[in-house]
Amino acid sequence: MKFGGSSVADAACMRQVASLVREALPQAPLVVLSAMGKTTNGLFAAASAAERGDLPVALDQLKTLIQNHRRAADELFNNPEGSVPEALDHALTDAFGQIELLLRGVALLRELSPRSQDAIASFGEQLSTRIFAAFLRKEGCDAAWVDACAVMRTDGTFGEGQPQPESIRELAASVIAPLLGPGRVVVTQGYIGATEEGLTTTLGRGGSDYSAALLGAALAASEVQIWTDVEGVLTCDPRIVPGALPIPELSFAEAAELAAFGAKVLHPATIQPAVEAKIPVTVRHTQKPQGRFTTITGEVHSGRSVTALASRGPITVLTVSSSRMLAQSGFLARLFEVFGRLGVSVDLVATAEVSVSLTIEADAPLKVLLKELSAFATVKVAEDRAIVAVVGARLKQTAGLGSRIFGALADINIEMISMGANEINLSLVVERPQEHETLRRLHAALIEGGV
Ligand code: ADP
Ligand code: ASP
Ligand code: MG
Repeated sequence: MKFGGSSVADAACMRQVASLVREALPQAPLVVLSAMGKTTNGLFAAASAAERGDLPVALDQLKTLIQNHRRAADELFNNPEGSVPEALDHALTDAFGQIELLLRGVALLRELSPRSQDAIASFGEQLSTRIFAAFLRKEGCDAAWVDACAVMRTDGTFGEGQPQPESIRELAASVIAPLLGPGRVVVTQGYIGATEEGLTTTLGRGGSDYSAALLGAALAASEVQIWTDVEGVLTCDPRIVPGALPIPELSFAEAAELAAFGAKVLHPATIQPAVEAKIPVTVRHTQKPQGRFTTITGEVHSGRSVTALASRGPITVLTVSSSRMLAQSGFLARLFEVFGRLGVSVDLVATAEVSVSLTIEADAPLKVLLKELSAFATVKVAEDRAIVAVVGARLKQTAGLGSRIFGALADINIEMISMGANEINLSLVVERPQEHETLRRLHAALIEGGV
């Protein structure tokens, strides 16, 4: 059971989560928590203030964080029956002191390495799980707290640690499995891990979903539940299309495409460990546990040809031309060698007779890239673009889909179009100011219009 930031945002939310966990006790749950609410953002903001040398702002951020956690703990424990347990109080005080030390160090050096960033960011999950596990115990649950750093082994890519599934399986078997059982619960942190040398890492923003899937796979869980603030995966981000509809059943492949193309409800890497272990993933609403939810499994259940839409921006489109080289063999190899060497990942590719268009992240090292590419080609750069993805298991078999898409977007300039090799994803590139309008039009034409 993984609960996201909004699910544990304050004392009232934590009580709700505790009641869901209590109901699940017969199934021997492992609970993976995110940091409370906007804590991780706050830690990032504090760290970058410190990096600028602005210690007062950094300490102010820390003060807000301390207040939020103290308030939640006080509300959970300070009632007629007692007060915050001493062990929890010490753990909190100790963590706050460590964050302050780290921030002071960063401010002194005015240097924030990814490694320091991870050390600071990891405290969000440490704090939320300490408070929650202590609360479960107070409520009479047999609850164990496990430090994810002892289990979630990653490589040393700070900021985006690459999990080592073999080690995680072994560590989970020795550290977590003995504590699991019907009537008991184990609480651990999402998002964070550690290298073999014990250095703290993180799995990247939104990584708690990934933690849950990795631990679920390592422990051969019967289900991975992602508890969040929506009734499952919807046909589009409800913040952009308020009329987005719930999707009861989704295939692993569809969910992976949606996550990769921007549906924030799932971290893009979440699906892979679950697929490999054939474990169903459900996405559920913490505040509406009896409501609708999505089940993601290997089979394709969605009766529609278009299942959902997602979008991601800003991205940059490069159009690479070489009248001399393109028709010759080896051009694409030479082109992609540059991207590979510079570690720039390419998302969409479309080729024409004398040019290749491709999309890269907006924060890719454009200058170096252009310098290298201009040695053998001319490059046109279009920045501030967005990818809009239409996902559906039966896209390829749906006659008339193209005309519906182009009809709905008649006055929107589509700059690039690409059908995913797996045939369940059709992606368009538009200017970023038109990203949301594109989604709304496509949702009306392809989903509300019932293709
Ligand atoms: P958590 O903190 O629980 O991990 P997130 O904020 O990361 O939650 O993800 C949930 C949010 O994802 C929702 O509030 C919603 O705005 C957004 N979202 C984007 N695309 C979708 C989609 N297709 N279906 C559901 N939610 C989506
Ligand atoms: N707390 C982390 C973040 O905000 C991880 C997560 O919530 O999934 O990115
Ligand atoms: Mg999330």
